[in-house]
Amino acid sequence: MTVGVLVEIANKNVDKLFDYKVPRTLEKEIQVGVRVQVPFAYRTLEGFVLEIKEDDLESSLKEVIQVIDQDIVLNQELLELGKIMAKETLSPLISCYQVMLPKALKAKEGTSVTKKYETVYVLHREHITSLTKKQEEIIALFGEKESLSRKELKEISLARLNVLVEKGILEEKKQEVYRLQYSSSSLVVPTLTKDQEMVVQHFLKSDESTFLLYGVTGSGKTEVYMELIAKTLEQGKKSIVLVPEISLTPQMVKRFQVRFGNRIAAFHSSLSEGEKYDEWRRIARGEVDIVIGARSAVFAPLSNLGLIVVDEEHSDSYKQENVPRYDARRIALLRAKHYGGKVLFGSATPTLESYARARKGRYQLLELPHRVNGQALPKVELIDMNQEIKYAKGHFSKPLLQEIETCLKNKEQMILLLNRRGYSSVVSCRNCGHVEKCPHCDITLTYHKSNQMLRCHYCGYATSVPSICPECHQESLKDLGCGTEKIEEELKGFFPESRILRMDVDTMSRKGAHERMIESFQKGEADILLGTQMVAKGLDFSNVTLVGVINADTSLMIPDFRSSEVTFDLLSQVAGRAGRSEKQGRVYFQTYNKDHYAILCSKENNYLKFYQEEMKIRKMMKYPPYYYLVSCNLACKDQQKALLEAKKCEKVFQKYLTNTILLGPAPASIFKKQNIYRYQLILKYQYQDNLYEVLGKLVDYYATNHAVTLEIDFNPLHL
Ligand code: ADP
Ligand code: ZN
Repeated sequence: MTVGVLVEIANKNVDKLFDYKVPRTLEKEIQVGVRVQVPFAYRTLEGFVLEIKEDDLESSLKEVIQVIDQDIVLNQELLELGKIMAKETLSPLISCYQVMLPKALKAKEGTSVTKKYETVYVLHREHITSLTKKQEEIIALFGEKESLSRKELKEISLARLNVLVEKGILEEKKQEVYRLQYSSSSLVVPTLTKDQEMVVQHFLKSDESTFLLYGVTGSGKTEVYMELIAKTLEQGKKSIVLVPEISLTPQMVKRFQVRFGNRIAAFHSSLSEGEKYDEWRRIARGEVDIVIGARSAVFAPLSNLGLIVVDEEHSDSYKQENVPRYDARRIALLRAKHYGGKVLFGSATPTLESYARARKGRYQLLELPHRVNGQALPKVELIDMNQEIKYAKGHFSKPLLQEIETCLKNKEQMILLLNRRGYSSVVSCRNCGHVEKCPHCDITLTYHKSNQMLRCHYCGYATSVPSICPECHQESLKDLGCGTEKIEEELKGFFPESRILRMDVDTMSRKGAHERMIESFQKGEADILLGTQMVAKGLDFSNVTLVGVINADTSLMIPDFRSSEVTFDLLSQVAGRAGRSEKQGRVYFQTYNKDHYAILCSKENNYLKFYQEEMKIRKMMKYPPYYYLVSCNLACKDQQKALLEAKKCEKVFQKYLTNTILLGPAPASIFKKQNIYRYQLILKYQYQDNLYEVLGKLVDYYATNHAVTLEIDFNPLHL
């Protein structure tokens, strides 16, 4: 027997199968989709068996050393899916398989996650003869059961048990156990509202396969997901629920657990590798009907998938930013198609791409326009910092300070958002908030400290930093930004009695810190939750009546064509944190751009209007969803060489991609990182039939080059 093995080297250059001979003794264990250990260029590597050829090829082939798995780790569906992924993202096939699996199964040497075992005692009633009184008591513990674990027999001494083992009455065995145990509990499933019921009925009756649920914050989307999952279960089919990592809190998982009990498996970052491995095996063995998790849970080895839910479908976290640069939303569509299942995307602020597809009828649009509790969405007030800055104390305007005071007095809670997205690389006017943009690309220019220049990192346009603001003619251009710590300090100064929880990357670095903080705030142990964008999403606190945004504008300045969308999403989401229970919520945005459509539309909570305004710009500037984008980065330690190679690629593109608009080469948004320089080329196209062929050839070309790396990103999140 000969097998074709894909080895664990992630390089396009070895992205093919190598043949190995299978020793007679191992033939029985070989299956397509198991891992094997093989000799490879003086080393021992792991790899996946992808092909079995019955006849022996040349006898000079090297032999498989060992078969690692008893059960297959990649089934036919996932093997095929990997091939599509590799093709669509131009990534090494092995990287696509590895990303699907928990660490313990990745086919990487040196991973040492093992199964956990416990001791059980099996009762052989047929061997019972005469017993002492004490022994009879032990046997009685078994009741009707055939076996008990050591834990269940912990009252009994080992010596006593051993006597029974020697007599053959008990048999001692090692049994595999899972590290996590779920218990189901009874719960009252709420009666769906009319709106929810309509959405559910629509979904069930439709023959379409892809749906977009556009529902405002607090409209009961999660309840709809659970109902649809229950219906899917009734049809004997399985479901996956994807949520952004940040909203995968124990509270969220609990909601599903309470309803579906131990038929669910949850993947979150606080699981140990061993626990992940156990969860994965439960799924592979068909012991699970519902999987809930972040991005990579889309690969859960469920078969017979009836439904994949992608909650908060606009979230960045669904796109993986390193190789393989896959999009979990795309994978969801591919997997559902394979099983004839359905995909449901849900969001209060859908991506423009998804909403445009829904308007075109490619996705079926479902809507939940009202909140479950019948409350109006909270009223948003804009505070014009151009005016208020004169009376402000630190970063706080007078009206916001007043609201905070009232909120504290009423013993209610508040969330304060410090929007820090994109602030560090931008120069803006402290007086009027003006930022310089590229005349060709409509994105913010990036500040390069070393030579005091402003540069467009899409097209390379450059200009020096003006000494006075071109808008208000004041000498007040400055890089923006302050940290949450500074804001916390100011707050403590104004309200010494207030209890503040600060949530940012610094305070979040410890494992479980996020959950602990949420729990503490939920219990009312703090008055103010202050933080960066992580306080904006998914949180559901009934006592929060005030939301304040200290600087609504900073994210408008991210040097990226999605900056308005990011800002609109963030502000809409954070506003949605207020007034989720009986008490009406109030929301304040401090802004220098009160007339910007992203700010105005989020104030009015008008997604449709935002969509229309933004689509006009996307059309005019030839951005998605009107055009597809590909980002190609040339990375090298030697700056000159990186640029030179980028120019070579430019020539190739100019020659062969005749329907494509080419931008750059220009310094990438992160130009120098860990001493590697990056130049970026951006491709914009609507239709280019030889795109994959041309890019594929370049990828192969650079695969053999150790000095220069070509990084290709289709539909990049950030440019
Ligand atoms: P979303 O996911 O749209 O933000 P959720 O599903 O989290 O909304 O619902 C918001 C709140 O309303 C939750 O506390 C949820 O338990 C509650 N809820 C949802 N649907 C119903 C219903 N039909 N009856 C009663 N309460 C509901
Ligand atoms: Zn430009």
